[in-house]
Amino acid sequence: MTEPNDENEMHEVSRLRFDCPHCGSFMKVRTSKTHLPEYRELYLHCTNEFKCGYRCKAALSVSETLAPSYCPNPDVDIKPSPWLMRRLGLEAQGQIRLGEFLPPKKESQQ
Ligand SMILES: [Zn+2]
Repeated sequence: MTEPNDENEMHEVSRLRFDCPHCGSFMKVRTSKTHLPEYRELYLHCTNEFKCGYRCKAALSVSETLAPSYCPNPDVDIKPSPWLMRRLGLEAQGQIRLGEFLPPKKESQQ
């Protein structure tokens, strides 16, 4: 049995609720592997161990950005959601201000 290196990481992953497709019991994340910053493989075990015992591999991937990071990783390129694109378009037209959604601009000399 392989355990994650970071106990907190396992705790965070375990909060994800996933039910067994066969018996409906809670599925427990036993291990997870990450190959890319926006993609993770999860190994799930059914907690109804003796009556069901189902085990599977699942994938979790980040699909869209809803709010940009204040400290973006240059190696990560995740497409903005249509909602964010509309907000960015409105901001570009000066119709709204997106201050709380975007990284703070570097201080300019005024
Ligand atoms: Zn099950």
